[in-house]
Amino acid sequence: DILANQIAAGEVIERPASVVKELVENAIDAHAGQIDVLIEEAGVQSIRVIDNGDGIASDQVAKAFLRHATSKISNRHDLFRVHSLGFRGEALPSIASVADVTLETAIAGASEGTLIHFRGGELIEQTGTSARQGTDITVRDIFFNTPARLKYLKSQTTELSKIVDVLNRLSFSHPKVAFRLSHNGREVLRTTGNGNLQQVIAAVYGINQAREMVAITGQDNDFKVTGLMSLPELTRANRSYISILINGRYIKNYPLANALIKGYGTRLMVGRFPIAVLSIEMDPLLVDVNVHPQKHEVRLSKEHQLTTLIEQIVRDRFAKTNL
Ligand code: ADP
Ligand code: MG
Repeated sequence: DILANQIAAGEVIERPASVVKELVENAIDAHAGQIDVLIEEAGVQSIRVIDNGDGIASDQVAKAFLRHATSKISNRHDLFRVHSLGFRGEALPSIASVADVTLETAIAGASEGTLIHFRGGELIEQTGTSARQGTDITVRDIFFNTPARLKYLKSQTTELSKIVDVLNRLSFSHPKVAFRLSHNGREVLRTTGNGNLQQVIAAVYGINQAREMVAITGQDNDFKVTGLMSLPELTRANRSYISILINGRYIKNYPLANALIKGYGTRLMVGRFPIAVLSIEMDPLLVDVNVHPQKHEVRLSKEHQLTTLIEQIVRDRFAKTNL
């Protein structure tokens, strides 16, 4: 029901950037190779995400807007072995309950696609449409029926920077996906999808930054760590330039970021932070992503072992005189 979805939306959909994150993650889960994100007025006016992924079969489209209707996990066991980015089945019903949503989608080989339109949680229309494979979803008038939340949004500059941040992190974790982000018709980010992380970093932070980054790698029995990191001498003074990915998912984890910083030792100037994209692979049973609705925070069962490993790998790398 609409009220339950609006309550869930309070947890999942905080701002336009949350909508962008959920929609782009859905496109990635649908195996899209190209994802275009078109934003108007920092997402407050509209957010459109076009993908060339699997699409949704016409008899499944309305179902995708039902609460906890996920096609991605089917039992309790799966919940602890999550491979897809989404799994809670909350995003589409939540978004549809607090905005105006039009989704057009078609699967491969279908003779026609499906268009569905919700506004404030109410189904306005469902009809046939073009058979272009993939999904094209537009979210307009976010929070039109929850004015308190609309009021809580920050300036357009801030909201846009949060959207850009979401796209940056997703492009790091998915270098094989070609992303395009435009704001009010102006291109903000473009990646090629050729799988080269350094080129993605160049697209995000600039060619000069990316050129100066070095590769790190290391592992123990439980964890495999790879990444690209800036040289200690060439760092920026902002913690947000550290991105940590666990099993392909961007996460926020203070102890892991701290381990990375500690690994730089005294060569890192006080108050300065490295640019780093660190990717950690582990048995999914060692990480619980079902802690927070936005799935940013995770619980690690061997956190201390991992922080020790990260610090060691970084220290060894930068201890070498010849970088
Ligand atoms: P979740 O991602 O947690 O499964 P969502 O509410 O985000 O839940 O999406 C519900 C369902 O709609 C998904 O499980 C998927 O089957 C379908 N879906 C949503 N977006 C797309 C998309 N871009 N391409 C294909 N299927 C999609
Ligand atoms: Mg989802």
